[in-house]
Amino acid sequence: MKAHYQTQGFLIILSGPSGVGKGTVCTALRKRMPELAYSVSATTRAPREGEKDGVNYFFKTVEEFKQMIENEELIEWAQYVDNYYGTPRHFVEETLASGKDVILEIDVQGAHQVKERFPHAIFIFLLPPTIEELKNRIIGRGSETEITLAHRLNAATDEFKQINQYDYVVINDEVEKACERVEAIIKAEHCRVDRL
Ligand code: 5GP
Repeated sequence: MKAHYQTQGFLIILSGPSGVGKGTVCTALRKRMPELAYSVSATTRAPREGEKDGVNYFFKTVEEFKQMIENEELIEWAQYVDNYYGTPRHFVEETLASGKDVILEIDVQGAHQVKERFPHAIFIFLLPPTIEELKNRIIGRGSETEITLAHRLNAATDEFKQINQYDYVVINDEVEKACERVEAIIKAEHCRVDRL
């Protein structure tokens, strides 16, 4: 997919409210597009059942995370509900420099910071088919208390207001369809004259 005259990979930002299915879409997308590099985030959140350090996240203490901020090891970071999340800098910069595309699956605050530093990144907002469906998906994950569920839904209401900062919107009604749309966006971006 990469043209010989394109030296840098593209940075792709997949964002949207918690529970919309960014993780599921990203996992399915990586199967369809194995050449796409995925950036593993750092977080202070506790691992959910089945999550592995270095695969799903780099799990950090608050002190370790603050040290990463201090050392400028993160491209962006955000406090989401009660935890910190951030994108490690080295992996992203080295992979882009090697000519590979990198996808970040991050919240809306983080996407905003990336836009300031990487204005040419491709910003995709993933939308749930309905708010009710978003709530069901968060509940279905079984990892939230009533309070954290309410926080996540409140955050989602604010996040929807940021949609006009994005280049594309994709409705996640069915994972495979959403994936097809994201793949089509990435492929189309590679054909843009102003990106050659
Ligand atoms: P969760 O706790 O459900 O894994 O993630 C909570 C929110 O943080 C989700 O919206 C997720 O996309 C976002 N998130 C995950 N990694 C990062 C990151 O590195 N930076 C930012 N800003 N948000 C992230």
